[in-house]
Amino acid sequence: MANTQLLIKIIRRMGEKIIENKDFLTELDRAIGDSDHGINMSKGFQTVNNKLEEVEDKDWGTILKTVAMTLLSNVGGASGPLYGTAFLRASTVVHGKTEICQQDVIHLFEKAIEGIKTRGKSDKGDKTILDALIPASNAIKEAYQQGEDSKTAFKRAEKAALEGVEYTKTIIAKKGRASYLGERSIGHQDPGATSTYIMIQSIREILE
Ligand code: ADP
Ligand code: MG
Ligand code: MG
Repeated sequence: MANTQLLIKIIRRMGEKIIENKDFLTELDRAIGDSDHGINMSKGFQTVNNKLEEVEDKDWGTILKTVAMTLLSNVGGASGPLYGTAFLRASTVVHGKTEICQQDVIHLFEKAIEGIKTRGKSDKGDKTILDALIPASNAIKEAYQQGEDSKTAFKRAEKAALEGVEYTKTIIAKKGRASYLGERSIGHQDPGATSTYIMIQSIREILE
């Protein structure tokens, strides 16, 4: 159902949109962090973009693993290891596959979440990436269970991720730099949840 050409397009779009939103993500991190989330993520995706050419004709697992390793070694801060781990765990689900099915997509997101939870010792409600990623993943799973196609599933995921980003404004950060602010982190949206939303939106755009 989804071939590797689609995956390459998705990753390229993610990179474009992260780079487009570099200043925005950095501004969000200025309020509750150290003003580098957009810089970290853009640098990582710029390098990913250069690496993609080498693996364009490879399987889903190899492509995702390449993204993972590139983010792990090129993105500073908390987000590099966390997104790197997410892509790495996801890559194990689709090892050697040139086509993946809906069940693979569900597993891929579940593994990514598991990876972030383990590496970040975080969970939903901590004001992190997970507050966008978990609702998005649940929306995809539910849509597929209702017999919907990927286009619909990712539309719903985008909406769920955005709601997740909005939710981060209402809660106290319990992980990462923003947690140093305690109650003062309330009122600000989480940069990492926002970059996750942008990535989910990128997938939806490619599926249009
Ligand atoms: P740093 O905080 O090291 O400068 P970034 O600014 O690139 O790293 O990334 C910050 C984002 O990382 C936060 O907005 C948050 O979403 C995410 N994050 C930080 N710590 C964790 C964690 N333990 N688990 C999940 N996500 C986290
Ligand atoms: Mg930062
Ligand atoms: Mg930093």
